Amino acid sequence: MKMKKNRNILKGKMTLMLALLVALGMTGLGTVPAFAYDTWAVTLDPGWQYAGFSKIHSGTAVVYYTNVTPKKGLTVCINAGHGTQGGASVKTLCHPDGSPKVTGGSTAAGATYATAVAYGTTMLDGTTEAAVVLKEALTLKNVLLARGYDVLMIRETGDVQLDNVARTVIANNVADCHISLHYDSTTSNKGAFYCSVPNVASYRAMQPVASQWQNHHYLGNCLITGLQNAGVKINGGGSVPLDLTQTSYSTIPSVDLELGDRASDYSQASLDRVAQGIANGLDNFSKAFLDVPSGSYFSESVQWAVAQKITSGYSAIRFGPDISCSRAQMVTFLWRAAGSPAATAAVNPFTDVNSGDYFYQAVLWAVQKGITAGTSETTFSPNDIVDRGQVVTFLWRSVGSQAVEGTPNPFGDVTAGDYFNQAVLWAVNKGITQGTSETTFSPADPCTRAQAVTFLYRSR
Ligand SMILES: [Zn+2]
Repeated sequence: MKMKKNRNILKGKMTLMLALLVALGMTGLGTVPAFAYDTWAVTLDPGWQYAGFSKIHSGTAVVYYTNVTPKKGLTVCINAGHGTQGGASVKTLCHPDGSPKVTGGSTAAGATYATAVAYGTTMLDGTTEAAVVLKEALTLKNVLLARGYDVLMIRETGDVQLDNVARTVIANNVADCHISLHYDSTTSNKGAFYCSVPNVASYRAMQPVASQWQNHHYLGNCLITGLQNAGVKINGGGSVPLDLTQTSYSTIPSVDLELGDRASDYSQASLDRVAQGIANGLDNFSKAFLDVPSGSYFSESVQWAVAQKITSGYSAIRFGPDISCSRAQMVTFLWRAAGSPAATAAVNPFTDVNSGDYFYQAVLWAVQKGITAGTSETTFSPNDIVDRGQVVTFLWRSVGSQAVEGTPNPFGDVTAGDYFNQAVLWAVNKGITQGTSETTFSPADPCTRAQAVTFLYRSR
């Protein structure tokens, strides 16, 4: 179920700006096909994590929601660096925990505060870095929308009143990954690279860096490979370690991408090449779920469930293994695993299940098969979280409520009187569950998406 977009759009303070626009992007390397999109304005929600660290946040970013199909299921934040008037005279905390910067950059190592938004460099012909990266951002936007990506544009004009913290927090909450665009201040035409996370233990242990730094590197490496294959010059191994505000506040895969330096060619043809390279890199990046580590107990189950079209991710790069399953989702998983049979029940007894709901057929089928009843005669409570006891019972009923005579019960929290007793013993007997410990099944714990697909996979 791809709910992320809607969920995030509801989370932000967004207003529908324009219903439908048609864009025709003409670029130097050829024509981007015609495509349509919707846009929403986004401002910083003060309730978002780390929002309080921002000092400049009266500006507005824009989400472009492409109508090109198939959609990629990924919202990419394009952050044209710099371009905040007055940003250089305001300071923000380098790290959310107040610790000092571990490497030097435009702010020295050891500092605890950095400029909210630096002015940036200038190209050798005097054009500002801010102007060049804006041009690149606008070029990249059209390329990504045409390929089926949704795009969050941090700025589309010379000035946006959003500091680096605000930009990062908005990206964290609205996008799936974050790419800021820059040029370095050297003059050797040294080529493109991304700012990797310094190998300093304290920095890599600090949240949110600890949870994300490997994802930052994965994104950065995908982008550099994409750029290289598009013919863009790469600097050295393609990365330079730097402690940046963006990295220090990012809760999604996020990189500062330096497209070259002051001596780089930034003709439209070069900008087009860069845009194609980034887009190719993203195509690669979006092929796997980052939150399903290979070797985890659920990785095989997730692969199977996605291949069988039983579920998709929350986005192209997130499966959401720890998110609790709702009754509607679980019944839909079961129904799809059974081949999505049409329900023959003529009457829908539930006032909270409507024919337009994605789970409509699944609920009618499950009730008809005796896999589940409603939560009352007239309600199914589709959005209620299912617990582990319920899920195992659904599974057990879906295979005909097989008897489990003689199976010893290893669990202290599953007693003979429980409605799920036979179902749990069946699941133990079949190797579908080993409980949450040797002596507990935790029947009342919410069933996560990882657990749900694993139960399904093992019971197939
Ligand atoms: Zn820059």
